[in-house]
Amino acid sequence: MDQQKLIALLMQRESVSGEWLSEQLGVTRAGVWKAVGALRQAGWQIESAHRKGYHLTPPGDAVWPSRIRAYLRTDWAGRRIDYYDRVGSTNRVAHDLGALDAETAPHGTLVVADEQTAGRGRLNRTWQARPGDAALMSLLLRPASLAPEEATGIVLVTALAVCGACRAFGAEALIKWPNDIVCDGKKLCGMLLDMQADMDLVRFAVVGVGLNIAGCPHADDLRHAACLNDAAGRRLARAEVIARFLEEFEKDYDLWAARGMEAIMPLYAAQSVTLGRRVRVAGLRETFEGEALRLTQDGSLVVRRDGGEETVVRAGDVSVRGVMGYV
Ligand code: ADP
Repeated sequence: MDQQKLIALLMQRESVSGEWLSEQLGVTRAGVWKAVGALRQAGWQIESAHRKGYHLTPPGDAVWPSRIRAYLRTDWAGRRIDYYDRVGSTNRVAHDLGALDAETAPHGTLVVADEQTAGRGRLNRTWQARPGDAALMSLLLRPASLAPEEATGIVLVTALAVCGACRAFGAEALIKWPNDIVCDGKKLCGMLLDMQADMDLVRFAVVGVGLNIAGCPHADDLRHAACLNDAAGRRLARAEVIARFLEEFEKDYDLWAARGMEAIMPLYAAQSVTLGRRVRVAGLRETFEGEALRLTQDGSLVVRRDGGEETVVRAGDVSVRGVMGYV
């Protein structure tokens, strides 16, 4: 019996049936019962309830499904939550779930991990986080009818939701266009959108969020990183932050789905740290400086170059930095 695998399976969902465990482990139900007994002997707290199955009690600041659920008040965001101690990338796992049917992996399924071995940023950059520090999570979304070019809305909704959640805990968070959350000029959070689309229809989308909470990486090239506990001035439970993010996300997403970009753009613009600033735009073909003037209806950034000419910068293919620093 592979004890590590049994522990990982018990962590993955809030409660798991003996039948599912026996299938996954390739042993009998009695074998499962015996192995669970051995784990209990070793100090693991495992409850078993008739019909519900086994439930493993999470330690300290865990981001296991049961812990998140204890704080959660949503209709659909986080309807299913899967947890992994360590995974390549939560976006990858959520993408694989997206390929399954909508009953198995519904709109609002959340994948959370404590550690990513291949966390990504945009443009093939890496996302770094030490185990225990962050909320590393991906939401699977199944929009009713969305064209691929409209999917930027999901990024804006996510930025709004993370910013709202950080503010709810007292951090003076702002949005750095298009998709970073900053506090005091330092980056608290990055996000990444992946999707599976036909020519004119998004089949499903996955939005990944890496939010520094308890700490952040100390690498030399990440001097612009910050964490939410410092910004909030207290130690937060990561599970509570995740639950709050899901609540904000559900509210902002539903508003966007019902009333479109017009409804969320003013909210987004009000939290923008980029608008009105002098920025350096680094694209694939050219780099230029100018003043960030306004956002267009589809979420692009209008920058006035020094000659006076206005350029519309689309999210996705550029990095925008402040002229004096990260913001
Ligand atoms: P951008 O800042 O241009 O929006 P991305 O959204 O692609 O960049 O995020 C990737 C970048 O974020 C990496 O190149 C790295 O500089 C930075 N980064 C990686 N991990 C962290 C972290 N935990 N906290 C803050 N910044 C990070």
